[in-house]
Amino acid sequence: MSQNSTIDRTASASHTASLNHTVYIGLGSNLEDPVQQLKTALNELDQLPRTKRIRASSLYSSKPVGPQDQPDFVNAVACLSTELTPIELLDALQALEQSHRRVRERHWGPRTLDLDILLYDEQIIEQPRLIIPHAFMHTRGFVLLPLAEIDAHLSIPNKGSISDILSNIATDDLQILTKSE
Ligand code: AMP
Repeated sequence: MSQNSTIDRTASASHTASLNHTVYIGLGSNLEDPVQQLKTALNELDQLPRTKRIRASSLYSSKPVGPQDQPDFVNAVACLSTELTPIELLDALQALEQSHRRVRERHWGPRTLDLDILLYDEQIIEQPRLIIPHAFMHTRGFVLLPLAEIDAHLSIPNKGSISDILSNIATDDLQILTKSE
């Protein structure tokens, strides 16, 4: 496949805007009752316009990436079906983060709610505001383990199957806090 056909395919995606797209969202929080932050956010994802939440993983606790002098994180992954374009979805997620009064004092520091678009169908998008697949998802157990829980057969475009990737990633810091509903 040529380089051009794999990069920034949002233009062609706009032709299919009326169709449902399958997307996976990573959620994380380590401030202000993180379990409740994530439960509320999972419900809010289901309320987004032209969007339905299909599945949600269990809630997991994980050790922070980067500075260790901050609380453990709570993480989860949700699968949505949406008619929103990738940028519309990003805008909606950033509005949700703001409504949770997100605190961003330092890079990789504590936060009330972090929402990342992990996968959008099998699209590869490289734009200033949006990289899909999410740039670090293939290195993070707290993303891959909940993702595998809701679909063990998923692949990350250009990276391979998540079960193969997971077999080379440490996940021993992860614990299930709340089983998926
Ligand atoms: P962070 O808070 O560290 O997750 O980074 C937020 C920034 O990442 C925002 O400026 C977004 O525009 C950008 N970004 C790039 N790709 C993505 C993605 N796949 N999901 C969410 N935010 C993204």
